[in-house]
Amino acid sequence: MSSSALDILAIAAHRDDVEQTCGGTLLKMAQRGHRTGILDLTQGELGTRGSAQERAAEAAEAARILQVSWRQALDIPDGQVENTWLNRLKVARVIREQRPRVVILPYWRGRHPDHYTASVLGYEACFLAGLSKLGKQGVSSQESEVSVEAHGFSRGKPDAAEPAALAAVAELPPHRPFKIIYATLYYDVRPTFVVDITDQFEGRLQSIYAYKSQFTDQAAGAGDFPAHAEIRQRVATTAGFYGLLAGVKYAEPFLQKEVGLVEDLLQIPIKSV
Ligand SMILES: [Zn+2]
Repeated sequence: MSSSALDILAIAAHRDDVEQTCGGTLLKMAQRGHRTGILDLTQGELGTRGSAQERAAEAAEAARILQVSWRQALDIPDGQVENTWLNRLKVARVIREQRPRVVILPYWRGRHPDHYTASVLGYEACFLAGLSKLGKQGVSSQESEVSVEAHGFSRGKPDAAEPAALAAVAELPPHRPFKIIYATLYYDVRPTFVVDITDQFEGRLQSIYAYKSQFTDQAAGAGDFPAHAEIRQRVATTAGFYGLLAGVKYAEPFLQKEVGLVEDLLQIPIKSV
């Protein structure tokens, strides 16, 4: 299992969120030899454009372009990403299965409820995945919930699918990612660091274009979706803005809750004056 562990797992609410917020970074990490993966929480059945099946094929093509080693979509209903016990178990199972060292989550504030809920859900699932007694003999699901609640977790409605989901997590060894970072591109917040994606910019753009059902010029939802020709400019403008903050051409923004640790003052990047 450890030989196939992921180095980096990006978790997001919808297919195409990862491409739009941190696709260049995932491609760059894959090019550096790291094993990357994407977990989409929903399958996109509510989208104005395209069916869930079309979006699955598009997501597979985008994954190929970004050179990710693993991609899966959970069955959480589109538009109803809720931080429930059942959903935390589903994400925790993936964390235990894929054993990422770094997890990329969406930023915890935003316009779309699915996005900011995915952030908290993802964080709590990372915590849960590391609890060694989760679902083990002698600890019932009720007891696990009590101990989890004691750590400040919220409790959703009971669901008939919970025992099976708990058993699926319990059969895997515990795992907690070393690092959680937040992709902030959807929200206007100052990042704590950016990743230079100048060399990955075209690849990232192609991964977004792979969602043909979303981004080709068409009448349905024309008011909400940019025309194909506009996408390059939008992506270049935001990537260019974050690049400017760091003195590179294009970059993607991230936030970490922890402070930065410096070993050598002469190695700190980005000039001040
Ligand atoms: Zn989204």
